[in-house]
Amino acid sequence: MERYDTVIIGTGPAGLAAAFTLMEARPASHVLLIDSSRMSSGGLTNDCKMNFTYPIGFPADYWDAEGAGRCLEEVERKLGPTILARANLAIYSNRAQKLGVSLLEVRQSHLGTDGGVRLARQLEQELAHLGAELSLGETAVEVLADDRVLVTDTREIGYRSLVVAPGRNGFAFLQRMMEKLQVPYVDNVVDIGVRLEARESNYPIVRDYYDPKFLFPQKVRTFCTNSGRAHVVKERCQARDGRPYFSVNGHAFSERGKASGLVNFALLKTVRFTEPLASGLAFAEMLGLQAMLMGGGQPLMQRVGDFRLGKRSKAESFNADLYDFAPTLGGCTPGDIALAVPSKILRAIWRSMKLLDTIIPGVLHPSTIMYYPEIKLYGNRPRFMDDTFQARPGIWMIGDGAGTSRGITAAWASGIRAARGVLAAGSRP
Ligand SMILES: Cc1cc2nc3c(=O)[nH]c(=O)nc-3n(C[C@H](O)[C@H](O)[C@H](O)COP(=O)(O)OP(=O)(O)OC[C@H]3O[C@@H](n4cnc5c(N)ncnc54)[C@H](O)[C@@H]3O)c2cc1C
Repeated sequence: MERYDTVIIGTGPAGLAAAFTLMEARPASHVLLIDSSRMSSGGLTNDCKMNFTYPIGFPADYWDAEGAGRCLEEVERKLGPTILARANLAIYSNRAQKLGVSLLEVRQSHLGTDGGVRLARQLEQELAHLGAELSLGETAVEVLADDRVLVTDTREIGYRSLVVAPGRNGFAFLQRMMEKLQVPYVDNVVDIGVRLEARESNYPIVRDYYDPKFLFPQKVRTFCTNSGRAHVVKERCQARDGRPYFSVNGHAFSERGKASGLVNFALLKTVRFTEPLASGLAFAEMLGLQAMLMGGGQPLMQRVGDFRLGKRSKAESFNADLYDFAPTLGGCTPGDIALAVPSKILRAIWRSMKLLDTIIPGVLHPSTIMYYPEIKLYGNRPRFMDDTFQARPGIWMIGDGAGTSRGITAAWASGIRAARGVLAAGSRP
């Protein structure tokens, strides 16, 4: 059986950052990254908007402004982003403030899905040059912690340190691991909401600020705005009992090529469960499955004009009269979102939409489309032994799957922090 100093599960930003930090600090280290996907990089290639301002992407339970700020400087040095210009923010901010809404000023870059792929390939080459090994199409199955052995679908691998960074799609694996290794965990928040798609001319703020971050009352926020060559997409998810459901999302390509003239972004409400010990994860899955039931196995979509009138949308809502652009996500079911979303969540989101329409008049044009559901699950969070995200001696759990991040730059920062823990543990006698 081969043995490594460090094995990293997952080649998303969290895993890549851990590998770079380790290899740069100890060039002779024997480091292996594995990924079940045939391409490295995880979610680095999804649109690849990067936010370089705290607290975007940094869960407050683990990060303060100072610690995150220090890591962000390193992330920026490593990834060398081109920070996008912003303009006219005072106008939007003043309008927002009068309504009790905040507009966060965030330093951002945007590579697009194609640009993200190019960055990922470049990072992969750099890592290989530094001497790290990469095994793609290999899935971690279980960990024999007492023997420090990782079992994959093809072999057994010995490790001295294990960094587990399987992302949101890997949290069922992470959950099994936490249970088997008796790592205590706590339930996480979930974000539930809709994705809006509007003509860019009805949401022109994107010309001044690529991904504007508005915080509304009742824990609602704008999230992941895409413009230029922008599309709404659907991701296949699986409830813990194996039943599939879809969550919508959005992305854009880089500026090379013809723009769609449309913008999409999510309005998400954060929901946290406490007593009686309900699970946010179970609740969100139930909502995803309920939406599938109503949409005949597909996400729902509704024009704002219909929603306002309390009417369901029909197929003809998407091709006639005022409703003058076609949805970029094909195959969704025209319907009535109000029947599928719990009223407290919907009321908070609708109120935020009206506030947004006062700040940027036009976004609630009748043609604007609401897609549902957009669900962000963060998995249960391990209770860590220390502030480097060590969950059990010799095992670090990081990234979106473990709840230490909610975005590319914070995932990268988590990888840096975990690698420092690995290095410190390795120097101890
Ligand atoms: C459509 C979409 C658009 C997004 N756009 C943005 C954006 O513009 N900006 C932003 O900051 N964030 C964005 N995100 C979120 C971003 O992708 C994540 O925050 C980030 O990728 C998390 O990094 P990670 O390293 O924790 O996990 P991931 O990037 O998800 O990587 C985890 C990797 O682990 C692998 N894996 C999982 N389980 C196993 C296993 N058992 N064995 C082996 N390998 C395994 C997976 O294949 C994956 O490659 C987007 C996400 C999506 C889905």
